[in-house]
Amino acid sequence: MPTLALHVVDLRRRFDGAEPSCVLEAVLGEVFTRRIAVVSSFGVDSAVLLHMVAAIDPATPVLFVDTGRHFRETLEHRDRVVRQLGLSDVRSVGPSPEEVARLDADLSRATWDPDGCCAFRKIAPLERALAGFDAWITGRKRFQAATRSELAVFEVDGERAKINPLAHWSPADIDAYAARHDLPAHPLASRGFPSIGCAPCTSAVLEDEHGRAGRWRGFEKTECGIHRPAARSATTLQSVK
Ligand code: SF4
Repeated sequence: MPTLALHVVDLRRRFDGAEPSCVLEAVLGEVFTRRIAVVSSFGVDSAVLLHMVAAIDPATPVLFVDTGRHFRETLEHRDRVVRQLGLSDVRSVGPSPEEVARLDADLSRATWDPDGCCAFRKIAPLERALAGFDAWITGRKRFQAATRSELAVFEVDGERAKINPLAHWSPADIDAYAARHDLPAHPLASRGFPSIGCAPCTSAVLEDEHGRAGRWRGFEKTECGIHRPAARSATTLQSVK
């Protein structure tokens, strides 16, 4: 078994059942010191994970994939969260102006090729930004989607480890933590948006719909692809067409 896989197996055994803050203290302070970044969309409940990280080390690198298609409210929420938590190393990464001009000049690509749009706006920029890091932290939870129902706290992600400290938390856990620490709410959360991505690909959901039903509505697509290492390396190695 490759070394990284063995390492991840060992971490799973060592932190089985551990609280998120305990996992974060270990990976930030001991296991992957200065070789680890948080990736955040500054979505509906992102402030919870970021608050835990900031309490340990506010200088932890936080990567925000700025696709250029976010809601204005998301960018304002990002700035509010960064200010309130005192995060000092938030890095916005995204497509270059040349890529946008070449691949989506009229900004319509999301409507006819969302996979291609995510490839150059999200997947490739994130892969470039992760260069130099051995591990990354996400805020994904099992309750968010059927595709995440088996999510482990520690995963192998290509050549890196990926850590999902909140994997086993419920919506009630998230809400309680946010209330306890008086964390800012995303302005769209109370307007029918339980899951928020780019503006062209996110719509409000009805009360009886799944929380991610508003993502890429009308397409079979359910994930942007940043959590598939094969997609990231393929996108980075080839030029996006
Ligand atoms: S979520 Fe939509 S707008 Fe954003 S990168 Fe993907 S396809 Fe493009």
